[in-house]
Order: sequence, then structure tokens, then C-alpha cells
Amino acid sequence: MRTSAQFVDAVVRPEIRALTAYAVPKAPGMIKLDAMENPYALPDALRARVAAAVAAVPVNRYPDGDADAVKAALRAHFDIPEGLGIVLGNGSDELIHLAALTVAAPGASMLAPDPSFVMYRMTALLCAMRFVGVPLRPDFALDGDAMLEAIARERPALVFIAWPNNPTGNLFPERDLERILRAAPGLVVVDEAYHAFAQASMLPRLAEFPNLVVLRTVSKIGMAGLRLGYAVGAPEWIAEWNKVRPPYNLNALTQAVAPVLLAERETFAAQAREIVAGRAVLEAALAALPGVTVHATRTNFVLARVPDARRWFDGLCAERILVKNLHGAHPLLANCLRITVGTPAENDALIAALRRLR
Ligand code: PMP
Repeated sequence: MRTSAQFVDAVVRPEIRALTAYAVPKAPGMIKLDAMENPYALPDALRARVAAAVAAVPVNRYPDGDADAVKAALRAHFDIPEGLGIVLGNGSDELIHLAALTVAAPGASMLAPDPSFVMYRMTALLCAMRFVGVPLRPDFALDGDAMLEAIARERPALVFIAWPNNPTGNLFPERDLERILRAAPGLVVVDEAYHAFAQASMLPRLAEFPNLVVLRTVSKIGMAGLRLGYAVGAPEWIAEWNKVRPPYNLNALTQAVAPVLLAERETFAAQAREIVAGRAVLEAALAALPGVTVHATRTNFVLARVPDARRWFDGLCAERILVKNLHGAHPLLANCLRITVGTPAENDALIAALRRLR
């Protein structure tokens, strides 16, 4: 009898066999500054309304396949015009997948700056697309000319631009995006996961670029646990994404809770302002540490190059503080730590720990 391992060997693609599953570290009792979450818990009054909304969900029924109430709440909260289409995902991670599935074909390629969000490359691999990474400059600036050359050479079906970029935190010049959008022969997804902290968006410019779709998530503004991402674009694009979307991808509990929370525009906007203020404090304190370089950020995290990322990461873990060690993820990220902005108290604890470590 053949073993399971032999069956796996016979049918699972070698490039999947070679992968390691996306690792999500556990952080019980730690100050969690590794995943770009909003550090503020929901106010109690809001929790009670969430509980009531959840209690009313008929969980024996499938959810609304179109999730119309969520779309209406997103349109109202983020001023999305009626003429534009919206498709929702189980996190924007799922929408990255849907974008690729929509255009994947034998020989088709996906292009993105490198380093950028790791799920672009991973998704290309899963959808059997060729991935073309265009190196950022050593200071993480976008190499606009290299992007245009690569687009001319590779004719990518899909371009992903994280704007601002993860893990580097910077916002590429809007002019470069315009050039990329005009040159690209296919779909360009501008991933605005961090838009709440960047004060920049391509959403108002969708009508100018027929190949643009804007991707967003509510994860970074305080609702990571909901798993809700949304893509906005011309109805022609959204119709195709919808065909590759699993029918009930947005579960009933998320559909019930999202409108309740999205109505609280001012609560989340105020938290984003707190985070941006905390970011400035964190940047200044990090920059004052000897041997530390802080990179310009328009997100809710700070990328810092430190003298010895492994030692600093381990030292922080020992102090019950979790950040993201990017050393080894990409040559340009040598000795880089990515630190999510926390509450003022969490930021202070981090800085105190780093002062002790150096
Ligand atoms: N895009 C970018 C650029 C991100 O950094 C992330 C989260 N790390 C995502 C998309 C995915 O976010 P989510 O699936 O929580 O919406």
C-alpha cells in the first residue's frame, strides 16, 4: 500500500512542496507589535452593540452572497461613488488571490516591486503565474524606470503596488503610479492597506485609469479579526473578480458586525490619528538610539535597521515584546525590524526595552 507521503509526492506540485505555510507567531501575554494591528480595543458601548448584532444572526442560514449591507456601509464610510463596483473578500488576502485567478493563464506574469507584501509572490506561485520582482533601490525608493522597462519586457497581466509599501513603509510618488498605469498592458492593483495612515489614495482617480483597481482592508484600522477586505473598480473588472469568488466568502457574523462598526467613523478616525501621533514619537525615539536607521513611513509601522536584528529581536521577546524580524527575508532588509505602532504605553515599553538592549 502506498503511504500518504507517496501520494502527496505523486500529485502535489514541487513548488508547493517546497513552500512553508505562512507562519503566524503566537503572542500570549506579549506586547504585540508584529502585525500592524490597531492596538485599541473596542469601546464597551460598541461591544454591546456588536454582541446584539451577533445574537440576531440566523447562523442556520447561508449569509447574503452579495453582502449588500457591508457594501452599503463601506460606500457610506469611505465615500465610494455608486458608479464604481465593489467586491468583498475574507481579508484583502483573499482579494489578492481573486485578482490573480481572474487573469491567470499559461505564461501570464505578475509584476511587483521587491521587497513588497510577500503574499503577491506567494499568490503568483499558487496560481501558476510567473512572478517578476523589480528591485527597489537600497533606500527602498521605487525605481520607476526599471518598473517601466520590466513592464515593456514582461507584459504582465497583473501589477501589484502596495501603496504605501509593506514592509518598507514608504509611499512611492504618485507620478510613478501614473506612469505604471499608463504603460501596463493589463490590470494594476494599487493595494491601499495602510491608506488610513497615509492620507493618500488613488480611489478618487479610478475614472482616469481603466486598468486600475484599488484594494483596501479594514484590518489595519481596528477590525483585523473581522477578515474584511474590499476592492473598488470599474464594474467591468468587479464582474470578473466576482466570477472567481467563492459564493459565500464573507461569513454571516462579519456581515452583521461590519456595518455596526463602520458606522463609527469618528472612533476609528480618532484612533488612526492617535497611531500617527504615536508613530512620530516612536520614530524619534528609535532614531535617537545609536546605530539605528529609521526609514520614512506613511503606515502604522516603522522599519528600523539595527546593529544586530537577531539579538534585538530575541532580547525584545525575552521582555515579552513581539516585533517582526525581517533579517533574511530579502537582501535589502538585512538587520531590519518592522515595529507596529502600539498604544503610547506600549511604545514606551518598547523604547525602554531597546535602550536596555543596545
Ligand atoms: N496588503 C498589504 C500591503 C498588507 O500589508 C496586508 C497585511 N499584512 C494585506 C494586504 C492583507 O491584509 P488583510 O488580509 O488582513 O486584509
